[in-house]
Amino acid sequence: MACVLRVWKSIIPADEVTVIDQEKLNTQLISLIDQVEKQQRLIGELQARLHHAEEQSVELDNKVFEMRTLLQSGKGFSQILDLQKLLDAFMSVCRERYSSINSAVLLRDDLEPEQLSYRVRACFGIPPLFRSAYGDEEIFMFRIPRDQGLLWQLIHQGNVFAVRDLRKLPRFESAFRNWNLNVLQSDVWVPLIKGAEVIGILTLGECEDGSQIAESNYSFLEEIAAVAATNIDSTLKYEKNTRILQNLRTLYDVNQQLTNVNDFKHLAEETLETAVRALSAQKANLMLLNPETGCLEIKLVHGDIPDSTVKAINSGSLSTRVFEVGEGVAGRAAQTRRPVRINDRGRIDQSGPYPVYCILSVPILYGKTLEGVLTITNRVKRNGSETELDPMGRFGEDDEQLLMSLADQAAANLNKSRLYSTSITDRLTGLFNARHFENRFSELLSRSVQAGSNLILGIVDIDHFKAFNDTYGHRAGDLILAQTARLLQEVASTVPRCECFRYGGEEFCVLLPDGDMAGAVALLQTFRVSAAQRRYEWAGGTIGCTVSLGVASSGDFNHGVSLFEAADQALYASKEGGRNRVSVRHASGIVTLPSEEEPKAPQSV
Ligand code: GH3
Ligand code: MG
Ligand code: MG
Repeated sequence: MACVLRVWKSIIPADEVTVIDQEKLNTQLISLIDQVEKQQRLIGELQARLHHAEEQSVELDNKVFEMRTLLQSGKGFSQILDLQKLLDAFMSVCRERYSSINSAVLLRDDLEPEQLSYRVRACFGIPPLFRSAYGDEEIFMFRIPRDQGLLWQLIHQGNVFAVRDLRKLPRFESAFRNWNLNVLQSDVWVPLIKGAEVIGILTLGECEDGSQIAESNYSFLEEIAAVAATNIDSTLKYEKNTRILQNLRTLYDVNQQLTNVNDFKHLAEETLETAVRALSAQKANLMLLNPETGCLEIKLVHGDIPDSTVKAINSGSLSTRVFEVGEGVAGRAAQTRRPVRINDRGRIDQSGPYPVYCILSVPILYGKTLEGVLTITNRVKRNGSETELDPMGRFGEDDEQLLMSLADQAAANLNKSRLYSTSITDRLTGLFNARHFENRFSELLSRSVQAGSNLILGIVDIDHFKAFNDTYGHRAGDLILAQTARLLQEVASTVPRCECFRYGGEEFCVLLPDGDMAGAVALLQTFRVSAAQRRYEWAGGTIGCTVSLGVASSGDFNHGVSLFEAADQALYASKEGGRNRVSVRHASGIVTLPSEEEPKAPQSV
């Protein structure tokens, strides 16, 4: 009470303290205390409201930041047409927002037609080499197959979810183990939805301070994921359309370039070159089916292969492994007559010295006839003019379609060149025929006139062939024709660019572009002597023949008919001179060279 009085006195001036009613004083005192307490509560409430307002303002600030980020990202994302850059930008916006230590984007792909899967297309803060589920090999991809498990169901629902619980233990242990997903070191998964489709997944690792992204923050992730998904989808479509356009352009160019070429090897080399370039492949090969053995033989290779190997294989001097139909990827394409595309390293035979990450084989079919197989292996990345192996690269459906078109073209080219080759080849001797001679003769003659070089023409005629036929029969005559032609081809093959033709019945022509007369005469003499020496088995005995030759050079006779006439005159001189000899028609006259061997009449059995 004394204390209350002291307070009272300190509030009311002393002269006013006259009569003090103890009870009234008490009541007033209590009411005063009440008021003080009310004031204190009010202050508390005000402080709480202030604190709340502060919190709200921070939240609002965050929201404004998020909205701005979303808006800017939306604008920014839509300007990026390069998928890799878009994914990197998307990941970095998300990482910055949550200070996540790592991130990855997995996108759905249709690389294996029978298995829809997702694979890593971009990552940050995770070693880019992933350990394969197939063993201790290192590969750059793995997949989440679309199964019916809980993980897939959650992805499909499209909501952000944590893949680790609050104790940081994995929620989907078996799925993660099966699909090697632990390498992602992720905490939170964000499905990327476009329309009703899950086109991909963003994964984020823990925050820098070791905490997990709070569930209350998922809404930003969901919104930015929707913005990113739309842009990723349109970038994928843009890239696909660009590829299709490029492929069409490639096919158009190939058609334009090759319509006038009839040499299959040349055409096929172009096809392989186009396949490697247009499909960014590391290498390509073309196998042809050998109808006799029923096996596939590698005829041409192109790409990142040592030059000497390419030359050896393409020239036919090095024969490589032969594949049975049904054996290996190419063998399977041949057997099924369908493209075989494998992008899963674990399913590709790795017996060779270099790793095969992806392979695509398509059959070369002409109508229903299997001609061979066209195969491309591994993808490359371009780095300016340099290319390097891209172990993450794979072959898709568009690649398959382009390669099939190229294989169709190869089949058409093969048949076109076969038809052409048949049309210019003499059936009995295998030499070029008279029609082709006419074309080549005028072609090479005008070229030699332009180049100021000499075209040398030799004409060969078998001696007394009529009598030979009469004596031994037409079939023996055919044998002599075929064998003599073969010998001529053999001798001529020692001289580059020398071409041989069957001009008529038992007459052959030899064209030597850019030749010198001394060399041509030596060649023809070698042939003449060899022909005279050769014996062929017939009817239990042996038969043979001699040949007479005439030769002339365009240096002396620069008009087509004159050159032919000149060589023909020389041939006539050889016949006149006793046969089995070579005569040269110079501008000044004809010289018949002496024959060491006397001409022989058709040999008796
Ligand atoms: P020469 O030494 O003067 O050239 O006398 P030759 O008998 O060889 O010349 P000729 O032109 O009189 O006879 C050419 C013969 O070649 C006539 C023909 O029966 C024969 N012949 C032409 N084509 C073929 C063929 O495809 N097969 C066979 N077996 N004989 C042919
Ligand atoms: Mg004749
Ligand atoms: Mg003759």
